[in-house]
Amino acid sequence: MPKRRIVYPGSFDPITRGHEDLVRRAAALFDEVVVGVAASPAKRPFFNLEERVEMARQALAGIPGVTVVGFSSLLMKFLAEQGTTTVLRGLRAVSDFEYELQLAGMNRKLNPEVETLFLTPSEQYMFVSASLVREIARLGGDVSEFLHPLINSRLNAKMA
Ligand code: ADP
Repeated sequence: MPKRRIVYPGSFDPITRGHEDLVRRAAALFDEVVVGVAASPAKRPFFNLEERVEMARQALAGIPGVTVVGFSSLLMKFLAEQGTTTVLRGLRAVSDFEYELQLAGMNRKLNPEVETLFLTPSEQYMFVSASLVREIARLGGDVSEFLHPLINSRLNAKMA
């Protein structure tokens, strides 16, 4: 039996408890979850790619079957390298829906074999977003509830 592998792409700037929650759910359904940290230069990430990969590894250590890989190519190319056509994305409030539907549609156009699966996080992480977490931390707010302790320390250190 071939191993069932799913790729979870995103910017993870930084990885939040919401992302972690999704990875745990996917790890229960698939043999292997590859977290693909996208370079996303157009988004001008707060943490560089190397930092984001390292932080995702720290936050996800201990979940069996999970690996973290950085990539800067087109997602379709990364999927081929990883030997899968299954993509994981998360859906929070309705606001995610339009963008995610568009993205899934475009990816399907590029490769009709690609399937995007959506998971929803636990209720407590429904409103957690990496960009809001960064914004709150920048203004001196406490975001420890939304991040793994190691990620929280790194974010606070970089903000200081
Ligand atoms: P991108 O820049 O590709 O949107 P993100 O790192 O912001 O990357 O998010 C990656 C995926 O994870 C997206 O599908 C997003 O909707 C989902 N996601 C982000 N935060 C959460 C959360 N709190 N709960 C569930 N899914 C989430």
